[in-house]
Amino acid sequence: MQDGSGRTIDYLRLSVTDLCNYRCRYCMPEEGVCKRPHSDILSLEELAEIGEAAVHCGVKKIRLTGGEPLVRRGILELCRRLRAVSGLEELCLTTNGSLLPELAKPLRETGVDRLNISLDTLRPDRFAAMTRLGRLSDVLDGIRAAEDAGFQNIKLDTVLIGGFNDDETGDFLALTMEHPWEVRFIELMPMGPCAAWEKSCFLSADTVLKSNFPLQEIDPCGVARRYRLPGAVGTVGLISPISHEFCGECRRIRVTADGKLKGCLHSREELPLRGLHGEALEAAIRQGVLHKPQRHHLSERSSDTPRNMNQIGG
Ligand code: SAM
Ligand code: SF4
Repeated sequence: MQDGSGRTIDYLRLSVTDLCNYRCRYCMPEEGVCKRPHSDILSLEELAEIGEAAVHCGVKKIRLTGGEPLVRRGILELCRRLRAVSGLEELCLTTNGSLLPELAKPLRETGVDRLNISLDTLRPDRFAAMTRLGRLSDVLDGIRAAEDAGFQNIKLDTVLIGGFNDDETGDFLALTMEHPWEVRFIELMPMGPCAAWEKSCFLSADTVLKSNFPLQEIDPCGVARRYRLPGAVGTVGLISPISHEFCGECRRIRVTADGKLKGCLHSREELPLRGLHGEALEAAIRQGVLHKPQRHHLSERSSDTPRNMNQIGG
């Protein structure tokens, strides 16, 4: 699919829930989400139907996200159904990793191709403080379980936060010496609870390049600039939506767990997909793509979306 600015759109991020077993301070309020009736959230049937329609329209890669996608009942069945859609080249999932000890193997068996696992700190006390409900050891066990289940090219996503984990970049980089992972540093985006945080929390991903590590640039992948340490088995990625805006190369659309198509993570514009089926659903997806906003405005102001990140999926 081509959008109104001539960009090719072939990547759908599909949110399967806005619920989460963590409450990361930058993402969600402490009290969690307002309880809504089940019927507000897309059923498995609807999620599968939207995924399939998007593939018919030209989407080649689907990433399941949330909230925490692994708390969604029926997630394995959804993965199985999406994996069976002809034309889908890659089915990926972004997770906080805490439930991977139980679910990595069945996810692999359903045909999920790749996992991104979010991990912002390697220190147990900081981890507990940032996630409010999480335990670092669960995520480390989850990463191990993902490897044991046969997942390759695992990406660890680390949101870089000034005054919180910027003194740990060296520890994260060091992981790539021994593990074949891509450790990716992501700039914190001002939205939801963190929109009001002090400026010093928002660091350019280039901070990582200023460390004393001899990072050598390699080919970029998607929106990530990439590097490798000499002799490392893993790689390093920098995702810089603010300091190096990549809207011109954006290939994504998003669907929220309540069934709204978003052309841009940071835009207020949303197009309801619920109740649409078959050709009408595909026409709506094409319409949303055509009107995908050209760019976000994070260099001038906070995100325009009134949603918290757990309500979109990153
Ligand atoms: N719960 C899953 C997880 O944490 O990976 C999936 C959903 S979470 C919303 C997706 C990603 O968005 C996570 O890597 C999280 O760290 C990131 N994220 C949340 N709020 C963010 C923000 N304000 N700026 C940058 N990344 C953010
Ligand atoms: Fe949950 Fe992921 Fe948001 Fe953390 S970043 S609160 S794990 S949705």
